Amino acid sequence: MPLEPYEEVNHPSFEEEAAKEFSLTRLGHGTAELRGPCPRCRTVIRVPVVTSTYKSFRLWRRSGAQQFPPPGDVHEEIVICTCEEEHTGRPEGKIGCGAFWRLEITSS
Ligand SMILES: [Zn+2]
Ligand SMILES: [Zn+2]
Repeated sequence: MPLEPYEEVNHPSFEEEAAKEFSLTRLGHGTAELRGPCPRCRTVIRVPVVTSTYKSFRLWRRSGAQQFPPPGDVHEEIVICTCEEEHTGRPEGKIGCGAFWRLEITSS
């Protein structure tokens, strides 16, 4: 199957899928890593997140059953696909398939 052409797109389903499939791992030194498959091209990507100001944190998997965030602050992380596949039409110097979406981290 040919790869989707590069396109800077956001779709509500990206956020739903990413919330289900991404995980957040603490790396130490105030950083963590979001890891999971891009909801558009399915390549697993890793995204560093600075967490030094959070005492504890977790990925909020917003869903129909969990409409409201747990107690604490909600931080939005905009994630951009960073795959290295050859998506046609990708501008020089860019990476990824163009998809971007929002993930939410709650902290206390
Ligand atoms: Zn890709
Ligand atoms: Zn992608």
